[in-house]
Amino acid sequence: MFMIVNTSVPKVFVFEPSSDEKRKNVASIYGRKKIATKTLDQIKEELKEIRLKNRETIETNTERFRNTLEKYPHLKIHFAPDAKSLSEIIKRVTGIPKFVSLNKSNVVINEIRPYLKKLGINSYIRYFSEFEDLSLEKKFLVDYWMLPGLHAKNLLETFDLKETIDFSKNGRSRTYVSILGVNAASAETGNLYFLQHMSNISKDIKEANTIFFIVPLEKIVKDDYSAKVHVRSMGIFGLESVILDLKPKKEEEFDFEGLPFTDKEKEIHIVIFDNLRKSLLSSHYTDLLLCIDCRACARQCPVGQHLPDMKDKVYSPKNLLLLHLQGAIKPFELCLHCGRCEVECPVGIQIPELLWKAQVEYYQRKGRSILKKMLDNPELLAKIGVYFAPFSNWVMKFPLVRAIMKVFPGIHNRAKLPSFSQQTFREWYEKRKHG
Ligand code: SF4
Ligand code: SF4
Repeated sequence: MFMIVNTSVPKVFVFEPSSDEKRKNVASIYGRKKIATKTLDQIKEELKEIRLKNRETIETNTERFRNTLEKYPHLKIHFAPDAKSLSEIIKRVTGIPKFVSLNKSNVVINEIRPYLKKLGINSYIRYFSEFEDLSLEKKFLVDYWMLPGLHAKNLLETFDLKETIDFSKNGRSRTYVSILGVNAASAETGNLYFLQHMSNISKDIKEANTIFFIVPLEKIVKDDYSAKVHVRSMGIFGLESVILDLKPKKEEEFDFEGLPFTDKEKEIHIVIFDNLRKSLLSSHYTDLLLCIDCRACARQCPVGQHLPDMKDKVYSPKNLLLLHLQGAIKPFELCLHCGRCEVECPVGIQIPELLWKAQVEYYQRKGRSILKKMLDNPELLAKIGVYFAPFSNWVMKFPLVRAIMKVFPGIHNRAKLPSFSQQTFREWYEKRKHG
């Protein structure tokens, strides 16, 4: 049995897509009761205001959150300046645990998991195992997508509070470690908030014997109201992005429910996580701290999800940029600057401009490779091709040449390339006019 009593840890709130409130609202129409509704723009406005204020007070919120947590005697509180030290904390507490479950949060998957691997700690993303025994059609197309459309009324009510987790009332736990990236945390009460699309998060909170709640600095908000707006907005604006990951992954499958129960006392750790975030405050990337991780930008980006850097990661243009600033990957060179991510972002982060800045800064620091210089100067490449035409066209048909082009500039060997011609369009036109 858990030794932890209700008042010894903060509450954990889990929000899920639900049509309950929608039904109540429909019923109220028949009952002729007036209910307050919000438009999408009003929701965005409120969210942006909360996020801007939150950024201004990030340091005081962090301090306050820490002080609040210290009032809960059963919690173990840590501070991790970076992902390496966070992984070392986990190793120090748990050794090399056999079974580790992660939620599908970018903080845990993108930032922490690679360091856990380096320490020999293997993990599973339980979200993906959830697909095994359900009918995709039932769970998503019926239960999930029957939600009101984005422009319908009562958007905020679309995502309801599904569960308040009370550790004192849960049964025995199983012997495994769960590492969960928290979506929002209230500095005032220490309560933690999650949005879940499957049931993996609530299962882990109830069942895992050792839990690490990872709280990135920008997710610590003033109070419970701000946390609720934050988490519901993640659901509303990220609704369509859920389908980006609707794939079972064999390698992530593990039967956590088959693990034996233990009577050992449940351990709850809360880690306040920086990993560059504080230093963003005084940089021109400070707007990244407004992000709620809804991934609306991911759904709209035509190229990002196909990048090899994003394999095994939670993808979004913002995540790509953050990972680059944290030194984990190179800058996102293939951004088309189409601006779709910026249009979708509910808090108005100018992602294409920030991606561009990051690229310029990187090459100013590191210098450009010969290949990069060549690719940045397509006019020169075209001039060379034209000068040697038709020989250049002939050479480019050789499989060996195409294989080299695939490896270095990354041009697919079946891509149709334009032919070079020594005759300009003007010359061709003049000849036809007079010929
Ligand atoms: S601007 Fe760049 S990152 Fe944004 S959607 Fe377009 S290609 Fe993707
Ligand atoms: S940057 Fe992307 S993930 Fe962050 S709030 Fe904007 S749309 Fe959502």
